[in-house]
Amino acid sequence: MILIALGANLPSEYGDPLKTLHAAIVRIDAHEGVHVVARSHVYKSAPVPLSDQPWYHNAVIAVETDLTPLPLLLMLQEIEVDFGRRRDDGDRNAARTLDLDIVAYHDVVMDEAGLEIPHPRMADRAFVLLPIRDVSPRWQHPVSEAFIADMIDGLPDGQDLHKIEDDAHG
Ligand code: ADP
Ligand code: MG
Repeated sequence: MILIALGANLPSEYGDPLKTLHAAIVRIDAHEGVHVVARSHVYKSAPVPLSDQPWYHNAVIAVETDLTPLPLLLMLQEIEVDFGRRRDDGDRNAARTLDLDIVAYHDVVMDEAGLEIPHPRMADRAFVLLPIRDVSPRWQHPVSEAFIADMIDGLPDGQDLHKIEDDAHG
């Protein structure tokens, strides 16, 4: 399974972060050779590390594509830019209109050309793990082989995460 995590905490030209996530999913699905086959609920999460930034909206989608990991990342980065993402301040944790991360690409394990798969920080992030469970309740981490439910049980305490009402979820 190919899993992509989406996050947004600033408004974009598509509207508030929830509208931005919906528009981004439509855009990814519209890309030639890429099909969105499942999507999670949308969650609101406190910024990590905690700060006075607005809360994030997060979701995970599963896609099918013939693109290999690097071209897939380049496509996602183009979409981030189209949605107004700016990377000029060099702060990895800066607020953003749209963040698209490759969480997993089948069983691929790689760390090259600035691309690390599976995503190295997913295990501590409730806002990635809970949406993965929505999309694939029996998903297993390609390296640790941990089941998603056990990864969720192992999350550090105290992460503030709320599933939001989302009529567009089908
Ligand atoms: P983050 O996603 O960690 O909040 P950024 O979106 O600014 O931060 O990403 C920083 C860099 O992370 C990107 O330039 C990209 O090359 C790199 N990167 C490494 N692994 C991945 C991955 N699995 N998915 C997306 N980006 C990744
Ligand atoms: Mg990113």
